[in-house]
Amino acid sequence: MRIVVAGAAGFIGCHLSKRYLDDGHQVVGVDNLVTGSQANVDWLASLSGFTFVKHNVTRRFKIDGPVDLVCDLACPASPVDFGPLAIQILRVCSEGVLNLLELARAKNARFLHTSTSEVYGDPEVHPQREDYWGHVNPIGARSVYDEGKRYAEALIMAYHRKWGLPVRLARIFNTYGPRMRLDDGRVVTNFIRQALAGKPLTLYGDGSQTRSFCYVDDQVEGQVRLGACDYVGPINIGNPEEITVRQLAQEIIALTGSASRIVEKPMPPDDPKIRRPDIALAQKILGWQPRVSRQDGLRKTIDYCMQLK
Ligand code: UDP
Repeated sequence: MRIVVAGAAGFIGCHLSKRYLDDGHQVVGVDNLVTGSQANVDWLASLSGFTFVKHNVTRRFKIDGPVDLVCDLACPASPVDFGPLAIQILRVCSEGVLNLLELARAKNARFLHTSTSEVYGDPEVHPQREDYWGHVNPIGARSVYDEGKRYAEALIMAYHRKWGLPVRLARIFNTYGPRMRLDDGRVVTNFIRQALAGKPLTLYGDGSQTRSFCYVDDQVEGQVRLGACDYVGPINIGNPEEITVRQLAQEIIALTGSASRIVEKPMPPDDPKIRRPDIALAQKILGWQPRVSRQDGLRKTIDYCMQLK
């Protein structure tokens, strides 16, 4: 296949591109490098079959030649970006997704979109199944991302209904691993960075909020299977093993052998209190479930962070 990956310089985008290249496909990466990194592009450029276009997908663009699959992972995704990049996030979720849908339509290509567990907001149903409509504050600090991604899903399904475009929707849950941006403000990288530097780990609130962390190789495997299947509609791709953020801090202190302590900081507004995917649909439709334990995944991520130090 010839595959366009929007957001190829980002964390998950570069791993998905690498996987498709390893499987013998050609990948055209598109990214404006606002949160993606040149280092990830250079990593992919060393492999055969990869070409890169530096472009902001909110502006219309053309790709010459045939395209079989358009993967859309282009969006800043860390809560620390939701303030400074608020308008860009709303634009990439609307104009950006529209341009990528138009590209897929023009090329008769399949469209694989990376959506998010954030569409469930601060959930009142636990664990979250795909048929849960969510609990999102439409004007809150996280709304640019949550509502942006909800709008994107609506737009994608409208393209499917109106034009018969073959669309696939992955709702992904807290993914981590090597090549995450170390300064992207998310909990795994913050805690590892702080533990390795012997600095206090910054726990927001009392740390009783929960998340379910999925290692990037599992995430990519789920998305590749979703891209290859015929199911239209959202499928959760995440690891259902749920822990509190305080437990995560303790695990990272233990795995790094750090002498760091834990300090409590104010809780950001609208921070979801619980989050865990119900993956029954992914198991049934994709025959997929995560394989990498949190211990192993965190070890690999810590090793990666240590190399960068
Ligand atoms: N968090 C924390 N300390 C940090 C960064 C994040 O306690 O230094 C918490 C955050 O409040 C949230 C959880 O960790 O409850 C996951 O945050 P992250 O930004 O990684 O992802 P989210 O799931 O909120 O999008």
